[in-house]
This record gives sequence, C-alpha cells and structure tokens, in this order.
Amino acid sequence: MMDIKHITDLIDKLEQTHALTRDEWIALIQERTPDAAEYLFERAREVRIRHYGHDIYIRGLIEFTNYCRNDCYYCGIRKSNKNALRYRLSEEDILSCCEAGYRLGFRTFVLQGGEDGYFTDERLAHVVSKIRTRWPDCAITLSVGERSYEGYQMLFDAGANRYLLRHETYDSDHYARLHPPALSADHRQKCLWNLKKIGYQVGTGFMVGSPGQTCENLADDMLFLTELNPQMVGIGPFVPHHDTPFGKYASGTVELTTYMLGLIRLLIPKALLPSTTALGTIAPDGRERGILAGANVVMPNLSPARVRKKYLLYDNKICTGDEAAESVRNLTQKMEAIGYHITAARGDSLNM
Ligand code: SAM
Repeated sequence: MMDIKHITDLIDKLEQTHALTRDEWIALIQERTPDAAEYLFERAREVRIRHYGHDIYIRGLIEFTNYCRNDCYYCGIRKSNKNALRYRLSEEDILSCCEAGYRLGFRTFVLQGGEDGYFTDERLAHVVSKIRTRWPDCAITLSVGERSYEGYQMLFDAGANRYLLRHETYDSDHYARLHPPALSADHRQKCLWNLKKIGYQVGTGFMVGSPGQTCENLADDMLFLTELNPQMVGIGPFVPHHDTPFGKYASGTVELTTYMLGLIRLLIPKALLPSTTALGTIAPDGRERGILAGANVVMPNLSPARVRKKYLLYDNKICTGDEAAESVRNLTQKMEAIGYHITAARGDSLNM
C-alpha cells in the first residue's frame, strides 16, 4: 500500500512534466485514495481555471442516425440489437436543429451517429457544406466513426473542423474483448492519426469501467493520450444496455471517471474535456462532479425530442423531453450553482 505522499508526489510530477512512466500511471490509478483524489481535483481545477477561467463551453449535439453497421458489444445501437427503433434525420431536419441551436447561442454543432451506410462521404459532405455556408461562424464537429482517409478529407474540405473518435481502449486484447473481430484497436488509432494529419481538431477518449478493464489498460490509455496529444478528450463511464452482450455488467463509477478526468486535465492542461451525459446518467450530480474534477464542456441535446429516446446507447440515458432551450436553462443553473458559467463562445481548443 502506498502512502498518500507518494501519490501526491506523482500528481505533482504529472502537473510539472506532463509525462509519467507506465509504472507510475499504474501506481497513480491503482493506489488512489479519496484524499489523493481531493488533492488531484484541486490541482486540476486550478489548471483549468488558469487556461479557461470558469467558462463552460456548450456543444449542440445532434444525434442524426442510429443505424449502425458495427456490432460493438457494449452499444445499444449495435446492428444486432433488433429491438432498437431505427431512425435517420433528413438534411432539412439536421438544418432545423442547427437553426434552433444557433438561436439559443450554440456556436458548435456536433453531428453524431452510428456508422450508417446511407450517409456516404458525399451525402454527409453535402450536409456539412450546407451548415458551413449558413453558419460560417460556427464550428462543425463530426462523430461518425471510422472512415477512409479520403472520406475524412472530403468532410474536412466541406467545412468540418473537429472530429470525435474515442479510441475506447488502447490495448488490443482488451479492445477485442469489447468488439467483434471485424474491428481493431490498430485501425481505430490509425483513423485518429489520419484525422490529425488532415488538420482536424481531434477528440479521442475511452470508457471507464468497461468489462475486463484493468489499471494497466487505463495506464496505456494515458500513454496513448500523451502520444496523440489531442485537442479534446471525452471519457465517460461504461453503462450497460439490457439488449447487448454486456447487459448484465456493472456500470463504471463516478469515482474512477472523475479521477481519470482530473489526471487528463493535468496531462493535457489545455484540452477540452466534456463532462459527459453518461456521467450525468449514473449520478444526478455526475456532470457537476465532472466539472469540479477539471472538465470544461457540456453537450446538451439538440436532436428533435421525438427521436431522443431512440438513440439509446445505454440504459437510463438522460433524454428529457425538454426542448433544447429548457435543457440549456437547466444546465446553466446547475453550473452557476457550482460557480461556473456557460458561454456562447465557439470555444476552440487552446491545445494546438
Ligand atoms: N459511431 C461513432 C463512433 O464509433 O465513434 C459515434 C457514435 S458511438 C455510439 C459514440 C460513443 O458512445 C462511443 O465512442 C462509446 O464510447 C459510447 N458508448 C456506446 N455505448 C456505450 C455504453 N454502453 N456505455 C457508455 N458509453 C457508450
């Protein structure tokens, strides 16, 4: 058992050098204590305030299709889930979501979806270019999985600026435990390097507490983040979905997820870090705790209320019937209550 001094020394070293060895990462994660976590969160808050003040950036999330060709064992919209009610938004629907979001002050639109064959590179590029022309001052973020280099390039040329693609878990054996053989850790990571090369602001990340995950796996995730040096890092707890092979596994915890958020804030001080919906799903104050651990982004849902329940990645996912305006008001109040303010700025990453 390590004493707290050893762990706080490692936290100090991380803050000063932004690099730890694999063994140090493992120790820092494995031997964490509530006191060490409090120390970490204080450091992480100070670092985030130094770079981003008390501002919280909002991203308007548009979940535009839940058709997916993949069969990830954890995901509620996997292709084998015959109980999923499938939908796809039309180009007009997507544009009206942006219109409503723009009026509410959103300056980033995040288009997320399953890997839906209908949305070829050309079709998606058409949607992106429409958004780019109508709202030239907004950032367009895509989160539509693995595509070819040429596809990513076409979407970038059409006007997309940012891309979210969680690596999910760095270790290839653990990756194979979470995905069918057609998918590989190697290919996922290659996509991230391609996105970076093209010039996207890249976001990656992983699930915390996914089945079979070890502290060694998390240490490898941190080493991968060190190497990739992304502009954004999205992490959230694994949450089971009853119609998937992992339906009976336990969720990840707020405790470990917030701890990892604090570590990421110290590793990449200028990264944009969302406090995710999954974190808000497993605890009523989950998103606030994420912010207090160093996160600085929230992503309210701009999808039409009629489809929200259908984008069910995991059980009990927060999907209030609230109009987007209502969600923004609620989140604004929650953030004000802990001393932070939602801002309408476009909020580009300072980690360039
Ligand atoms: N298809 C795109 C992709 O692969 O990146 C975007 C959509 S995918 C559903 C978005 C993210 O949802 C995944 O990266 C994964 O981390 C997360 N997710 C899926 N199922 C989840 C679950 N059961 N618990 C927590 N997160 C989950």
